[in-house]
Amino acid sequence: MTTTTTSTAFTVTEREQRRSPEEIGAILENPGFGNVFTEHMAMIEWDKGQGWHDARVAPYGPIPLDPSAAVFHYGQEIFEGLKAYRHEDGTVWTFRPERNAERLNASARRLALPELPPTMFLDAIKEVVRLDQAWVPPAGSGETSLYIRPFMIATEEALGVRPSNRALFSVICSPAGAYFAGGLKPVSLWVSEKYVRAAPGGTGAAKCGGNYAASLASQAEGIENGCDQVVFLDAQEHLAVEELGGMNLFFVYADGRIVTPELTGTILPGVTRSSLIELARERGLTVEERRFTIDEWRDGVASGQISEVFACGTAAVITPVGRLAWNGGELTMPDTHEVSLSLRQELLDIQYGRAEDRHGWLYQLV
Ligand SMILES: *Cc1c(COP(=O)(O)O)cnc(C)c1O
Repeated sequence: MTTTTTSTAFTVTEREQRRSPEEIGAILENPGFGNVFTEHMAMIEWDKGQGWHDARVAPYGPIPLDPSAAVFHYGQEIFEGLKAYRHEDGTVWTFRPERNAERLNASARRLALPELPPTMFLDAIKEVVRLDQAWVPPAGSGETSLYIRPFMIATEEALGVRPSNRALFSVICSPAGAYFAGGLKPVSLWVSEKYVRAAPGGTGAAKCGGNYAASLASQAEGIENGCDQVVFLDAQEHLAVEELGGMNLFFVYADGRIVTPELTGTILPGVTRSSLIELARERGLTVEERRFTIDEWRDGVASGQISEVFACGTAAVITPVGRLAWNGGELTMPDTHEVSLSLRQELLDIQYGRAEDRHGWLYQLV
């Protein structure tokens, strides 16, 4: 192995046997989502005494951990998700990564994990993507990208219940195919009445594995009821629409208004959500961030006032919602997706460098 130290103080240890361009090309033909990982990963250690140290890029592989490591017992874990996009000229860019760095730190504060300086977050991503740049799918191959998954875990070896005195931050990458490989398909949503995702004062606004663990039983219930995903309501009254397990929701009105649930502390502040709010406002649409009830949803669709419903997040960008089902009923959304699809296209064009980056949202990696 060749070991070098970069200007950013990452020690880089390259894999001796790199995959051939042919092998990588074959994988990129049909990568799916989150099944194949690139050849390297970034790691930065933290402990209470030294702070962040030992920043390195190493061959992708298992992380040895003591069975008593805090993450295994008390779930101190947070993560992020963003993508690298290849432009026509071969350069590679990511989208608003400073937002992910800030959000990681907001999650860290809530989960009593250490905050990571945003420059380290950005450098870790740059290091891995540069080394594994052959894994970023070529331009013009549809909506393909390299999915970047930064995460942080508590590694202290102790069963005492308290914030861990040691942590590990890591970045892994996985090539991602077009989310809608077979064409855009509206999703059906199950209204969870038995379970909630987040309660006031809880961890709903943090991007943590625990929220996902807690959503899996309701997700299974949704699938049993013939739906793709679950929509969660507020924990107190079960009336206000919050979000899906991993995507934010928007309601488009026929009169040009758009409503999205306001960030009350129980909703994850999506980067896609905030970007779409800006793009919609620039088009002259009125975007209302407010409490929005399940009854408004049902009545709005029934009366024809709501013309489109969509979910959004980094993975799918925008997914139209086609159907809403609950214990005892269901409702079909209108079959119009004009606003959803045009906002989706506008955001994709910015991300893939086909439209001007008016907002300075792009960040060059390679
Ligand atoms: C990550 C996530 C989103 C979407 O956030 P983006 O930054 O747009 O990818 C929405 N809801 C939840 C619960 C999430 O974890």
